Amino acid sequence: MSLINVCEITKTYKGGDGVTEALKNVSLEILKGEFLALMGPSGSGKSTLLSILGGLNPPTSGKLIIDDIDVYALEPERLADFRHEYVGFVFQQYQLIPYLTALENVMLPLVITSRPGREQREMAQTVLDKVGLSNKSHRLPNQLSGGEQNRVAIARAIVNRPSIIFADEPTGSLDSKTAEELLELFQALNRDGLTIIMVTHNQENLAWVTRSVYIRDGVLNPIPQES
Ligand code: ADP
Ligand code: ADP
Repeated sequence: MSLINVCEITKTYKGGDGVTEALKNVSLEILKGEFLALMGPSGSGKSTLLSILGGLNPPTSGKLIIDDIDVYALEPERLADFRHEYVGFVFQQYQLIPYLTALENVMLPLVITSRPGREQREMAQTVLDKVGLSNKSHRLPNQLSGGEQNRVAIARAIVNRPSIIFADEPTGSLDSKTAEELLELFQALNRDGLTIIMVTHNQENLAWVTRSVYIRDGVLNPIPQES
């Protein structure tokens, strides 16, 4: 079943130094339950595509259809609701709030909902259990290792039970053991039915995914050039 349909999306940025065509007529269909790697050199358009897929960055032309919803045709408020309901983000630079405990950090996406506080705490604790941090939920981020902080960020991304997780270079700053633990966790979540789209530079990460696509100069898919 098709979950995400990218239909002929082009994205241009206009800046002081002229116009950059970051994505050129990109089309892509992603099925529910895929764990997709988005590969490509620096500056090729990966982050742009990820932010467009996540409902954060409107394309210049083309359409994004998720679960039969024409995402960028939504009114701004509906678009925000859509993001809350459908997507979770794991971005490297997505810092945890240092003065909130792991549990409180994970509760953040729930605070804007009308759920009672007690239910919010229970939901946050449940996902912390799932990522293996049951007994560390009351620690502050600086009392956790890098890998553990990463898992808190993942717990926060999944606490709303989104259908899709977007991860931008999630293993980029991790040592190989911690990176492997993160990929194992993603794989387990994927097997539970979560669709995951991960930007990565690292060929080794491809062993974990169900499919990979390649982007170069804003063009998706052609086989990487031998050189
Ligand atoms: P990647 O994630 O593969 O490194 P990006 O999507 O970040 O690639 O960038 C693709 C191209 O678009 C690059 O040439 C980059 O400089 C340009 N670009 C990205 N974001 C912006 C922006 N906000 N304003 C202007 N140019 C941008
Ligand atoms: P990992 O194997 O996940 O990288 P570390 O070897 O860095 O973990 O840490 C081992 C244990 O020590 C972790 O379970 C973590 O809870 C604890 N720990 C790591 N850094 C800190 C810290 N700054 N303050 C308190 N506990 C820490």
